[in-house]
Amino acid sequence: MLKTYSTFEVVYLAGLVTGSVVRTLYTGRHRNGKAEKQHRSIPDTALLAAAGLGMAAPLVYLLTPWLDFANYSLPGWTGWFGTAAFIAAIVLLWRSHADLGRNWSATLQIKAEHSLVTHGVYRHIRHPMYAAHVLWAIAQGLLLENWLAGWAFMVTFVPLYVLRVPNEEQMMLEQFGQEYRDYMACTGRIIPRFWR
Ligand code: SAH
Repeated sequence: MLKTYSTFEVVYLAGLVTGSVVRTLYTGRHRNGKAEKQHRSIPDTALLAAAGLGMAAPLVYLLTPWLDFANYSLPGWTGWFGTAAFIAAIVLLWRSHADLGRNWSATLQIKAEHSLVTHGVYRHIRHPMYAAHVLWAIAQGLLLENWLAGWAFMVTFVPLYVLRVPNEEQMMLEQFGQEYRDYMACTGRIIPRFWR
């Protein structure tokens, strides 16, 4: 029997498809850029894998009855906030991929001919792509009425963010020195800073 989906579950599925298309288009385009320096660690790789599962958990919820024991009810307005957060997440994901271009990587890397991006959505925040992921995690929680599927990405992405950002900024400081220090002085991590 085919499951019937609520409006916000359909919104979630549409957002998942759109976000995946954006990601696939840009990552496919820049996959071949050679890494000059790798900054891999076991905790970062493990948390990256966990966050991937957290993002995929809704598919288990939407396609099988296995997670139904964790269903709960949300007031209707949360779905509208979730829809707005999802649209913002996808636009930000798209713009950050477009601005970061060939400097993008899923793990921490410095590419051959890596350049410091400070324009576009990077102008006021240093981590717009991670900001997009936080918005995605909020949207997932507000659109899906299931504790596990809804919040799995939030509980896996936040530890990844907390572990990764100091390491990423340290790596960027080692690579770009004063240029990155100056960039840090006039940007926020994921909340825009419009003053120096
Ligand atoms: N943290 C950024 C980028 C995520 S992709 C964001 O949230 O938007 C991760 C890779 O991006 C890292 O390996 C790093 O090499 C690269 N990177 C991060 N900030 C950058 C910047 N301002 N310019 C160029 N490359 C950057």
